[in-house]
Amino acid sequence: MSKHRIINLLRNGQPEEEVTIQGWVRTKRESKKFAFMEVNDGSSLANLQVILEPELENYKIILSQINTGASVEVTGILAESPGKGQRIELHATAVTVYGEADPETYPLQKKRHSFEFLRTLGHIRTRTNTLGAVMRIRNTCANAVHQFFQQQGFLWVHTPIITTNDCEGAGELFNVTRFNLKDVPKENGEVDYSQDFFGRQAYLTVSGQLEAEAMALTFDRVYTFGPTFRAENSNTSRHLAEFWMIEPEMAFCDLQGDMDLAEAFLKHIFKAVLDQCPEDMEFFNQRIDDSVLTTANNIINQEFERITYTRAIELLENAPKTFEYSVEWGIDLQSEHERYLCEEYFQKPVIVTDYPSAIKAFYMRLNDDEKTVGAMDVLAPKIGEIIGGSQREERFDILEKRIKEAGMTPEQLWWYLDLRRYGTVPHAGFGLGFERLIQFMTGMGNIRDVIPFPRTPENAEF
Ligand code: ATP
Ligand code: MG
Ligand code: MG
Ligand code: MG
Repeated sequence: MSKHRIINLLRNGQPEEEVTIQGWVRTKRESKKFAFMEVNDGSSLANLQVILEPELENYKIILSQINTGASVEVTGILAESPGKGQRIELHATAVTVYGEADPETYPLQKKRHSFEFLRTLGHIRTRTNTLGAVMRIRNTCANAVHQFFQQQGFLWVHTPIITTNDCEGAGELFNVTRFNLKDVPKENGEVDYSQDFFGRQAYLTVSGQLEAEAMALTFDRVYTFGPTFRAENSNTSRHLAEFWMIEPEMAFCDLQGDMDLAEAFLKHIFKAVLDQCPEDMEFFNQRIDDSVLTTANNIINQEFERITYTRAIELLENAPKTFEYSVEWGIDLQSEHERYLCEEYFQKPVIVTDYPSAIKAFYMRLNDDEKTVGAMDVLAPKIGEIIGGSQREERFDILEKRIKEAGMTPEQLWWYLDLRRYGTVPHAGFGLGFERLIQFMTGMGNIRDVIPFPRTPENAEF
């Protein structure tokens, strides 16, 4: 007999249908006449209620085994549920317990655990309602990302994880070290691993952008969706050492086109999640942040505000509040500034453009004023920056000058400059941190709780 997923039974299961489910026990309740257990198989937030009657073979033994956390297979007959909150329930005709969970030591007891505590249980915390819902939303979003780009004719390209350049110039790099146990000196003797990607220095990538640009100059429209790494030693609620980045890159495109794509992209993703994960989104709205659904609907229905950096500074200088980090033209916007603009002033997502060149990466296109670059950041309520993008410098001479100003040499980036020598075109793209997106969408307060195994200064274990 093939097995059924609980989400399908809850949505479409019909009374008198015989079905088999497999999953993990969430709760068990015994009464004089029979017993109930709630089973979850990860497919949905809601559990399936299973009724066990004393006629069931090994009834007493099974009852002693189906504690919270145990894994079970149940075959039975669906029936309309007389109880509130569920349409259908399962009357068991056969139960197999695969693995018991000792109630004395099972770490996820019925009470609500704090997210801090759950972070110490990365291997098992996805069995809670909140982390389970996060994971389903991640899946739906990831799917919607590919769907959006594929529908528009973008090619998915795989950019390298090991690289020799620091694309963002922020110096937050993890060094790659060749480590071969055979090379370790037997008796004393030190080994220098600093340049040890086979004799040269290499890093884990902070962004696939430069390579994506090369691909866009063949395929016109490409995107990456892969892991990126930043040695951020900051313990903020929006930074991870390892996160997933989505980076579209378009040839024959300017900053305007880049902003249009970013806005259309976010609208598409939010719509997909509201359509496909209504129960999970409702859960976040009820239990985590009661503005989740309003925010999602606003993303879909409102046009984003678009302002220049210079205007943003004016608004911040005239804000009826003081900021911790003081405001003047030239500063990099901090999350308190970003949040003021979208939460208080405009009350919607804001795209800020044309930042000072001094605070942005070398590859962004210099504007005619020679002080600002064609950059754009998309700012979201509660989080701040979720997207950073720009039109790229396509002019050879200016790019060469900017590379030198940034303290690098044209030789280091010879191939990147080559792209400006042979068939260069205006082109643009952006980077979106996948976890920032999930955090924004679900209202979760800490980025560590929207990725299955967060990598932070404190944790690389699980
Ligand atoms: P921030 O100002 O928040 O440090 P950034 O300007 O350094 O971000 P970019 O280099 O512009 O980030 O990267 C593009 C996107 O990648 C950001 O808009 C954000 O969504 C995401 N991102 C950047 N750093 C991290 C990180 N450490 N953890 C998770 N997401 C990140
Ligand atoms: Mg940063
Ligand atoms: Mg930033
Ligand atoms: Mg940025």
